[in-house]
Amino acid sequence: MQFHHHGYVSGDPRVLPAGVGERPAELPDEVDVLIVGSGPAGMLLAAQMSQYPGITTRIIEKRSGRLELGQADGIQPRSVETFQAFGFAERIIAEAYNIGWMNFWGPNPEKPDEIVRTTRTADYAYDICEFPHLIVNQARVLDYFAEAALHGPARIAPDYGVEFIGLEVGEDAVEVSVRTAGGDRRIRAKYVVGCDGARSGVREAIGRTHVGGVSAHAWGVMDVLVNTDFPDWRTKCAINSEAGNILHIPREGGYLSRMYIDLGEVAADDDHRVRQTPLEEIIRKANAILHPYSIDVKEVAWHSVYEVGHRVTDGFDDVIDDSGRTPRVFLTGDACHTHSAKAGQGMNVSMQDGFNLGWKLGSVLTGRAPETLLSTYGAERRPVAQQLIDFDKEWSSLMARKPEEISDPTELATFYLGTAEFPSGFMTQYTSSMITGTDAHQELATGFPLGKRFKSAEVVRVSDGNVIHLGHHAKADGRWRVYAFGDRDGTRLASWADAATPVFARFTPTDADADAVFDVKAIDQRPYEELEVTTAPELFRPQTGPLGLIDWEKLYASGPSKWTDTDIFEARGLSRDGVIVVVRPDQYVAAILPLDDVDELSGFFEGAFLPA
Ligand code: FAD
Repeated sequence: MQFHHHGYVSGDPRVLPAGVGERPAELPDEVDVLIVGSGPAGMLLAAQMSQYPGITTRIIEKRSGRLELGQADGIQPRSVETFQAFGFAERIIAEAYNIGWMNFWGPNPEKPDEIVRTTRTADYAYDICEFPHLIVNQARVLDYFAEAALHGPARIAPDYGVEFIGLEVGEDAVEVSVRTAGGDRRIRAKYVVGCDGARSGVREAIGRTHVGGVSAHAWGVMDVLVNTDFPDWRTKCAINSEAGNILHIPREGGYLSRMYIDLGEVAADDDHRVRQTPLEEIIRKANAILHPYSIDVKEVAWHSVYEVGHRVTDGFDDVIDDSGRTPRVFLTGDACHTHSAKAGQGMNVSMQDGFNLGWKLGSVLTGRAPETLLSTYGAERRPVAQQLIDFDKEWSSLMARKPEEISDPTELATFYLGTAEFPSGFMTQYTSSMITGTDAHQELATGFPLGKRFKSAEVVRVSDGNVIHLGHHAKADGRWRVYAFGDRDGTRLASWADAATPVFARFTPTDADADAVFDVKAIDQRPYEELEVTTAPELFRPQTGPLGLIDWEKLYASGPSKWTDTDIFEARGLSRDGVIVVVRPDQYVAAILPLDDVDELSGFFEGAFLPA
């Protein structure tokens, strides 16, 4: 963690220096970005926009205060990686439940009305990445993002008790109507982001509709404190019995567990009557499914009947015609995709929507990028939502099968492990666009697939010999990362640094730090002991901040070394002749380029940025 950059800091270094004056208590008449809804999508977006003090962002929420209970709880490894970029992964890991195993239960062949454990399956997370697969209440996730939003330079906090009523998109702004305790009023916003959940009013206001199966499936959900003889109470389980299905999820804190009890398909004419299912009926059903085990419920912290269809919105922004104009209103999260809770994806995919959009709004509003960048949001995220729906349909139908339909009891476990890359959040791969290049040079870095998120690996920091994860240094601060992996003796790396310096300068404001837009890091393949920061090219030791301090954390050596066995060149299939890997602010690999071709780097940036 780097601080003291603007002079000595004696307090909590996680609270960044404010870039704005006192935040007005009243909603202003005009804002740059208005976020509607403070769920996972909206709160991540607020935390991201908090990195841009020159942009006025407000987040309105109709609830009167913070979420306290319920909703989602499954946190995939990609989300933990994202939390790392926002600075709170370690703290949330410490309080969360870590999924080490998933066990599967089915009917006992000898006594079909009783369940037996059929398979124990080690969870996939650590086979895929260095981040765990967690369970923690959505409310806590929102708390951490709220803290990040408040501690960022723009000091953003939700405006609770403010309800979105409607909007009109004008020539150069969006007129938004809101209801507050003091009455109805209007706010002019350059951009509006609908993070207002499955019943999104913003979606309706821009004329977008949910497309997809109208059939809905209902689940009784309860967070309970119990005593029980069920041996897997503290292990995640899929339980399939003659009496129905349970997805059982231990929760943070060591005692609480969540049970999703399958209430079956909801008839088209049900008119939400299923939501009236009494808690006693949900508990009775849980006990019937668990037989011969049972639960003695001591406290129900939260329960709900969660009913949802598989739907994706017909577009993720307000550009419905073919006028070629750029969008002003966006939809994220449940506002544009809904599905079952069984695969534990809702909160996760919603947060990634916010991560994808935040830096794009920041780049356009700070004049770094053309407005056309905003069209890439829907183009990139809609296919991800469709994949999610397809995956969730398959997983839910497998889980909802009756015992007589299951020929192989290990089939569900095999599917769980075989498809792990998707539910862990790492399968997203953006295709070629103004911000994702072509795969012409993929062979130079086979372990960094173009369009996928940058998979971190350990390297040695040259200034102090410490081993760090290269990707963990990348914070959600809206900057691009450029990783220059050096050649065998570092001569071509030095030439590249000289040639590339004016390219970076062309897109960086003259009054800003040299690394304000591009955080360029070098990874030399020579041993750490042979390198000195002070003789590295200046690009890798810029002097920044008001005091012009040397940045000691731009130059790295590849292992293996005393404290790591990892050779990042080996681990990520990097060319020993060197390679440049460009990574977007949301951590996706944007370009892979040869070390000796600065023109191609320059050409790529010309498509994605405006000259400073
Ligand atoms: P949300 O989290 O829904 O947030 C939307 C926010 O917008 C809310 O805070 C809402 O109050 C606010 N809002 C709505 N309309 C307005 C308005 N007009 N003006 C101002 N603010 C507005 N997922 C699971 O994986 N497991 C579960 O068990 C589960 N249970 C759920 C139970 C419930 C009751 C709900 C609603 C959702 C549940 N989900 C569950 C889904 C999961 O919570 C969502 O996928 C996830 O929260 C989506 O995040 P989001 O930010 O898109 O929307």
